[in-house]
Amino acid sequence: MYDIVIVGAGTAGMSAAIYGVRSGKKVLLLEEKNYGGQIVNTPEVENYPGIIKTSGFEFATNLFNQAKSLGAEIKYEKALKIEDNGTLKTIVTNKNTYEAKTVIIATGAKNRQLRLENEKKLIGSGVSYCATCDGMFFRGRDVAVVGGGNTALEDAMFLSNYCNKVYIIHRRDKLRGEEKIAKAISEKDNIEMVWNSNVVKLIGDDKVEGITVKNSVDGSEKDIQVSGLFIAVGQEPDNYDFEEVVELDDKGYVVAGEDCKTESRGIFTAGDCRTKNVRQLTTAASDGAVAAIGACEYIDSELDTKNTKK
Ligand code: NAP
Repeated sequence: MYDIVIVGAGTAGMSAAIYGVRSGKKVLLLEEKNYGGQIVNTPEVENYPGIIKTSGFEFATNLFNQAKSLGAEIKYEKALKIEDNGTLKTIVTNKNTYEAKTVIIATGAKNRQLRLENEKKLIGSGVSYCATCDGMFFRGRDVAVVGGGNTALEDAMFLSNYCNKVYIIHRRDKLRGEEKIAKAISEKDNIEMVWNSNVVKLIGDDKVEGITVKNSVDGSEKDIQVSGLFIAVGQEPDNYDFEEVVELDDKGYVVAGEDCKTESRGIFTAGDCRTKNVRQLTTAASDGAVAAIGACEYIDSELDTKNTKK
């Protein structure tokens, strides 16, 4: 029996684990793949208060080591189902079944796809969602990045150090990403902006040989020869496995306010998987703390009071 089972070992989940174990609770972190979540793929983090500059990988590794050294357990299993039996929650994974007094859903979000024909088939053959993981394979080549947010801009900056030319395909004429990085992009000779455009086709049967982009203003189409397409069009949540115990909004985010409490008592949610306006590293860490403290208060006040009364 665990006090707190946390689903997802990203920034929110690992922050929750730190706060949980430091409150004397028995904490289990469940992670399907690797710890760290989305930040692992970010080359530079410069906006986390108190840390001037670090890499996403280093940030995540430190967080992981901190949670583990304090006593959090981690198991690499996919949570498939949560059952809410009142004061007892059951978490079914692909390998085991666990019981806990509380659960924190911190599943983050996964990369959104463009849903182009052959997009899935060409992953690893020119299509990528991670510039820092795959960029080196495109040394000296021409590549394209889709998106206008911070991820797309950082990816383009990273790729411009290795690739011959980097096109940024953005569907509007204004970037969503931060001004500082937009300025750095404008100063790079080998980055070309393709404004008001959407990728409508991948060219190449077995590997990416180019893309067709469509201009949304005049409707014209043109082919651009590239060997790689880096898709950075944001994230989407994946919480449908838990919709029997928590409410999801129309986009699939777990509905909860800033107190991170869901409609089910004893089930909390933290980080990018929650309904919120700002999804940042700082807000993920903050949610982790809020959810864990909420879980501890629930255990100490509501559950322990019930047990004492018995
Ligand atoms: P994002 O900010 O949501 O940006 C997604 C971009 O993709 C937007 O420009 C959007 O266009 C575009 N887009 C969305 N769907 C599309 C589609 N179907 N076709 C074409 N384009 C599409 O996502 P993100 O860049 O991954 O960033 C997520 C969060 O993490 C943000 O809050 C960001 O600031 C943060 N982040 C921070 C850092 C850092 O601090 N170092 C690094 C990376 C990310 P529109 O602009 O037209 O909506």
